Amino acid sequence: MNVTTFVTGPFQENCYLLEDRVAGVAAMIDPGADGRHLCDAVRRAGVRLTAIWITHAHVDHIGGIAPLVDEFRVPIYLHPADLPIYRRGRETASAFGIPFDDPPEPDRTLADGDELTLGGLRFRVLFAPGHAPGHVVFHGEGIAFVGDCLFAGSIGRTDLPLSDGAELQRSLARIAALPEETIVYPGHGPATTIRAELRTNPFLTGIARPVTR
Ligand SMILES: [Zn+2]
Ligand SMILES: [Zn+2]
Repeated sequence: MNVTTFVTGPFQENCYLLEDRVAGVAAMIDPGADGRHLCDAVRRAGVRLTAIWITHAHVDHIGGIAPLVDEFRVPIYLHPADLPIYRRGRETASAFGIPFDDPPEPDRTLADGDELTLGGLRFRVLFAPGHAPGHVVFHGEGIAFVGDCLFAGSIGRTDLPLSDGAELQRSLARIAALPEETIVYPGHGPATTIRAELRTNPFLTGIARPVTR
């Protein structure tokens, strides 16, 4: 297994290429921007891209999807509760004044407990709403892609439209219950572990709580 991080777009969003090197297949997680650059990266890696997994549909996580689908014809996986946000991508991007390629509609719906296979790798979908209503975490093989739920030393915003601080609090409790050695790949900033966050993240040690509106 190999994980490559690409920092994309004006929001410095982390896109991840998850590869099963033995099987020669890969999934792209949250291609947020710079889709053409991500296409080049897939070609350079010499793997067959088989899926795009989306943790949540905020504009900084979906703006690079279109060129990848154009070139590799791969299915997009998204939790249906984030479809309204997904469909407003262009509107949101223009409000921020950033370029945006409209992605096609998602092909596959994600639900809590779903198992995703990538070659010989197995990941489980953990429904983790709060930062966004259809946010999910992909957990397996000792790692977790947590999107904007949890960051090294912090958590995702809950003051956005459709965010819910109390829900994020419950989702964080589920994420914090993952094995402590789990390597955490967030939607922004450096990777961390559950153990490090349990010790030092004020939102997991009980010192701080998500903003509730
Ligand atoms: Zn977000
Ligand atoms: Zn984000």
